[in-house]
Amino acid sequence: MTPSLLKTEYFTAGDIHPHDDELRLGANLELCLMEKTASKISVDESYNRLVIERVLAEDAGLFGRVCIYRGHLAREKHAVDAPDDPDELVLPIIVKASRTEPEISSEQLVVEARFYVTHLAAAVSQGLVPACYGVFSTKQTEDDEEGLTCLVLEDCGDDLTSEWDTLKNTRGLEFKPSKHQLMKTVFDLHNLGVIHGSIDPHHITRRDQRRTPCIIDFSCAEAGMQCSCQSKTIEALHEIVVKPWREAFGCDELWELCQSLEVWAPRMFMCFGVTFYVEWCDNLERVALQKPTFMDWDEALRKAYMTVNKFLKKWYSGSADDLRIQATIDSGELDTLCARYKEKMDSNPPSTE
Ligand SMILES: [Zn+2]
Repeated sequence: MTPSLLKTEYFTAGDIHPHDDELRLGANLELCLMEKTASKISVDESYNRLVIERVLAEDAGLFGRVCIYRGHLAREKHAVDAPDDPDELVLPIIVKASRTEPEISSEQLVVEARFYVTHLAAAVSQGLVPACYGVFSTKQTEDDEEGLTCLVLEDCGDDLTSEWDTLKNTRGLEFKPSKHQLMKTVFDLHNLGVIHGSIDPHHITRRDQRRTPCIIDFSCAEAGMQCSCQSKTIEALHEIVVKPWREAFGCDELWELCQSLEVWAPRMFMCFGVTFYVEWCDNLERVALQKPTFMDWDEALRKAYMTVNKFLKKWYSGSADDLRIQATIDSGELDTLCARYKEKMDSNPPSTE
């Protein structure tokens, strides 16, 4: 296999390095592909230029210093290409770069690339993860201390950090296309025997107009795993409404994703700083017993109703409890209940023991 050569360029050099001391991916570097680091869907050798457009993150590595860039691979249009193709063909990429020595992170980039090659071919063809175009290195000799190692990956769009909170708070009709799409992506990855190891908003992106989720960063991933999720199909996973116990659910990674997306209705609510099981919605006079001493009994019962009303609206909207409590508030019956409760409790206060 002849390693292909890439020449680096900057789109706008001024934007790339605002400081003096950071990792430099210099212009006009010659980069060679390391063997067995490019996945099958590899870059055509005629893509001969790597153009850096901007820095996405610096010092991002778990194993040492890694800079992440966004850019593209470019090649001249071939004579045989369709006449309406642009003059220059480009492939959007992400580059993870590290010094070759002495950083462990450069070794880690090779490990990550090999993980793509060995374990993620099926995931790439299903569009769950980016294609890996290989690790390219400037290092030619043992004493080339300024060498750089670059992992080149398909650019699968921006990560979900900025939209995570909106996504988390999305319920109802919007729920399926957004959250469930993410759950399905991780579920499908697990079905291929791959556990990502660090699923969070930084490691999920959306690509193309259809905003298909894509999982990135396989530096902590493990392959050959058997997902032990209690839901054996994505449909079964979607049917779970109330938060399952972690142990019973079986798969930690899916459980944590669903938990962090607030997919499941909680089993408990908080009132007066005390946690109550959902079943206590049946008896709010008992919840009101936990009130702070300075609060009047009627005020305490009203607070319990309002707290539970808000909780049920968010998580159990339309349930029998939700409708009953809403009706009690709307009809004015709550005023009577509170007054009667105060009278009862003031004349016969609960024992403080
Ligand atoms: Zn799993």
